Amino acid sequence: MDLVAVAAALDALVVPDADRARSVHALQLVARLRCLVDAVEMRWNRRLEELARLDTSLNPEHVNAEATGRSLRKATDAVRRASRAVTAPVVADAVEDGCLSGEHLDAFVRALHSLTKEQRPRLLELQHELVRVAQRSTVEDFTVRLRAVVRDIEGDDGRSRLERQRRERGVRTWTGKDGMWNLHGRFDPESALGLIEALRRETERLFHGEHPADAPADPLLRQQWFQAQALANLMQGRGTRSSEPEFVIVMDHDTFATGERRPDSRVDCGCELDLPIDALLRLAQRARFTPVILDRDGRVVAQGSRVSSPDELVASLRDPVGLDRGRSRRHADRAQRRALRAMYRHCAIPGCRVPFQKCEIHHLVRWEDGGPTDLHNLLPVCAHHHDRIHADGWLLELAADRSLTIRRQGVIAMATGPPREQWAA
Ligand SMILES: [Zn+2]
Ligand SMILES: [Zn+2]
Repeated sequence: MDLVAVAAALDALVVPDADRARSVHALQLVARLRCLVDAVEMRWNRRLEELARLDTSLNPEHVNAEATGRSLRKATDAVRRASRAVTAPVVADAVEDGCLSGEHLDAFVRALHSLTKEQRPRLLELQHELVRVAQRSTVEDFTVRLRAVVRDIEGDDGRSRLERQRRERGVRTWTGKDGMWNLHGRFDPESALGLIEALRRETERLFHGEHPADAPADPLLRQQWFQAQALANLMQGRGTRSSEPEFVIVMDHDTFATGERRPDSRVDCGCELDLPIDALLRLAQRARFTPVILDRDGRVVAQGSRVSSPDELVASLRDPVGLDRGRSRRHADRAQRRALRAMYRHCAIPGCRVPFQKCEIHHLVRWEDGGPTDLHNLLPVCAHHHDRIHADGWLLELAADRSLTIRRQGVIAMATGPPREQWAA
């Protein structure tokens, strides 16, 4: 179906009285239409670029921003998508046909550009197969899949990529027209690990302290405001003193012991960061370890105390740390957060991809209602879903295997299996 046919089909549907099936059908048409509109926009942006070659006073990004009312940054992304689409013709064609979104194309092009020129043809050969994968996947899942494919092509578990990324580090600062000082930095994932954690800890410390009157009321802006304050503190040496950087890397025992990544390896540094196993093991040489034992469902069975060498791991498990605090403590402590981290990569609400590091810990039976700070009563959820749970009165039920059922007004709205599924992608 072309743009006009899809739009007409959508227009023919009447919103009032539509049942669930019809609403779903309508939304599918909306998604299809959006893909087709992405394709149309690509064509016009390409035309703008042709015109710009003839008329040097024409700046495609500015023209796009003005015409669409977007920010210059968004307009630049759109124009760039159009020009980069030619590097991935098969994927771009799928967008033209309305069966793939422009964002899927962006993900593919990003993956393509993370490879060297010599490696790119190997990813391009897989376009047909990857278009089929993309059609069944969300952009996030597609990105995860692309990452695995890229790693396969690199053949060195991303070691040369990390070397490249180290050379590409840089910080840029400038004063904007509004008089604000701007800071933009790029860091390789290995350096980022410690920085993210330092910033997160300082932000959290400030957030739990007093909230000054000039902090914005909007939750997202407030979070950013505190983050700016935290960065300023750290840059001026006023942040929390911590002698060593602390960050959590989840790695299954076999991968840890062999140093080899297998298809079923469970490795997660959080925040979508991707590092070669040997880089992680190198970091681990300077680190201390906490063994966490999971069962088949991906549920924590036990957590050992922290040890300074891998040889002590087994001994540490003989005296596991308790993971239930009852009513003695309102907020999850570090051991409980670590246990939840080992189980969950991201927000526990089905389909949500906000990484664990950005999640809040929710009490299933509310603390106010006498709910204990015990592991079986705690669940990581993103700020958005945390808000939905409390504001809309979602009822969350966690089964013994930590399968999650969400009810709204008594009706099951969502359900998902044990946490192991979060690692399946
Ligand atoms: Zn809560
Ligand atoms: Zn969420």
